[in-house]
Amino acid sequence: CGIVGYVGKKQAAPILLDGLRKLEYRGYDSAGVAVMTAEGINVQKAKGRLSVLEKRIDGGKLLKGTMGIGHTRWATHGEPSDTNSHPHLSRSGRFAVVHNGIIENYIKLREYLTKKGFTFLSETDTEVIAHLVEYYYQGDIIDTITKVMNKVEGSYALGILCADNPDQFVAVRKESPLIVGLGKDENFIASDIPAILAYTRDVYFLENNEIVVLRADEVKIYNTDRESVQKEIFHVDWDI
Ligand code: GLU
Repeated sequence: CGIVGYVGKKQAAPILLDGLRKLEYRGYDSAGVAVMTAEGINVQKAKGRLSVLEKRIDGGKLLKGTMGIGHTRWATHGEPSDTNSHPHLSRSGRFAVVHNGIIENYIKLREYLTKKGFTFLSETDTEVIAHLVEYYYQGDIIDTITKVMNKVEGSYALGILCADNPDQFVAVRKESPLIVGLGKDENFIASDIPAILAYTRDVYFLENNEIVVLRADEVKIYNTDRESVQKEIFHVDWDI
């Protein structure tokens, strides 16, 4: 189980695949990526080794875009399958979500959202997040994430793309690891340092309930009261 995210000037898909490979040691049963393309969010995912996904997207060449999120899954709810793999899309396809962790109250949320007209494609606990984000979204992504966090119980590291914002993506964590990698004209998220060490050695360690908004030239961190959080940059001086 691992998460990576990239926003910058380079093609995102090969960087996401490379980062996921560095997280393979964490174990996984499926993998997927979502890239913001000129035609909207493009999700590609597959059960099995990373090489299955890699072949399917020709090493990333079939996904053109400079921002994206990637995931290796260790299934907790729903068997390993292409459909249950992450990223998960919201109903309109406007949001893509990757998640590490467990949403404890997903059955209740699933019932709630089903009554509101949402249809579930997967058996995962994660898919409630994709639909909740869409359900609450009224143009302000921080506000939306805060509402989702108030609703879900459990552990999560999340990476979220929103098609309305083709230059930025958001991430948040609670009881699941997530770091931010700070580059020049590019920024990253990852479950662990090895995923980004080839690109940068400057990182932020996110605390529980910190929300991060990443753009190519800017990283902003907020708490759930929407206050901006200042953090120390940690410089990694070891090699893997
Ligand atoms: N609970 C989620 C699922 O089963 C995420 C698992 C993970 O952390 O990879 O899809």
